[in-house]
Order: sequence, then C-alpha cells, then structure tokens
Amino acid sequence: MPNSINYETLAAMLQAVADKIKSNHELLSKLDSATGDGDHGTTMLRVAEAIGATLEQEESKDLKTLLDKLAWAVMSTDGGSTSPLFGSFFMGMSAGLGDDNILDCAAIAKMLESGAQNLQKNTRAKLGDKTLIDALIPAVEAIGSSAKAGKNIEETLQEGMQAAAKGAESTKDMQAAFGRARNLGERTLGHVDPGATSMSLVFAGLMEGYKNG
Ligand SMILES: [Mg+2]
Repeated sequence: MPNSINYETLAAMLQAVADKIKSNHELLSKLDSATGDGDHGTTMLRVAEAIGATLEQEESKDLKTLLDKLAWAVMSTDGGSTSPLFGSFFMGMSAGLGDDNILDCAAIAKMLESGAQNLQKNTRAKLGDKTLIDALIPAVEAIGSSAKAGKNIEETLQEGMQAAAKGAESTKDMQAAFGRARNLGERTLGHVDPGATSMSLVFAGLMEGYKNG
C-alpha cells in the first residue's frame, strides 16, 4: 500500500465514513434519546447521504473541490446544529490542502487539523463539555503527533481512530454543558454523547476506508 492518498483513496475513505454512519444511525438516535430528542441518527443519516451523493456526482478528481462540495452538501442538509458543524469540518479540510492532489501523512494531518480548527470556529464547546469536540481534538492531536513521529498513514489513522473512540467513551463521565442536554445536568452522567460518537465514527471510517480502499 503506497504511503500516500490520491483522489480515489480519499473518496473511498469518505464513502466509508458515510457507510459507517449509515450502519450506526439507529445507535446514534438511541444515544440521543437518553439526553436529547432522539433525532441525532436521522440527522447523521442525512449527512451520510449528502456525502454519498456528492461522491457520486463529483467529476473534478480534485481533492480540494471534492471536500468543498461535500462540505456545502452537508451544511445544506436539515440538521439543527449538527450538520453545520460537520460541514465546517469538511470545509476546513478542503482549506487545509495545498495544490497537490496526492497527500502524504503530514498533509493528511494538516488537512484534518485545519478541519478541526474550522469546526471550532462554529462552536464555543471546549474539551470536557460532552460534545463532538471530546472525540475530535484527541483524534487530531494523535494524528498530528503520529505524523510528526514519522509513522505511516495506516498507523497514524489507526491512532486517530483509537483516540476518537476513547474520547467519545470519556464523555460518559462528563456533564453536558451544551445543547438541550445541558438542562439535564447530572442526569447526563453515564451516557455517551451522540455527537462525540458520530465524530468517532468519522475517524473509524477514514481508517477503514484507507485500509480497504
Ligand atoms: Mg437531537
């Protein structure tokens, strides 16, 4: 497996993200029922469909263009605060790319870092607030340090996936500080945050898509 990503590989990774979300949407709604209105899986299903439709239609074979269109498609879906956040993540990923259409491990880390930074412009949530940030930040940090340490793409994405999963799991012990769940205070303890779970599925999809694509 080459230690770089081209258009076809990134498309396979994004398709795997969409598939991962689709196959888990019932779980996401179930998690949301514990502390919210139970619609998170439906919202994420729309996000996944927007990703899939964009991948099907896009003909530019240009990474930046693909991510940009995908971001707009995701942001245009009806999904409360969730779809703009995921859309801004993809938008930031696009902005983090140079002109090169082949990405090495450092470029992948930079792309995801840029996605995280752009997403953070659209929320005041910080680490520990029981949101998708608790999966996103550890994942991007793990990927950044793994890339810096000279590990290959598979190892790097693997570490990102594990950090995201661990981060999502850690929200169980947090009290919600954002969204409707905030009103439930201590009653949110013991429940994994659905948004953080969705974000961990994104990193799992990226990893699995790379491995199988
Ligand atoms: Mg909800």
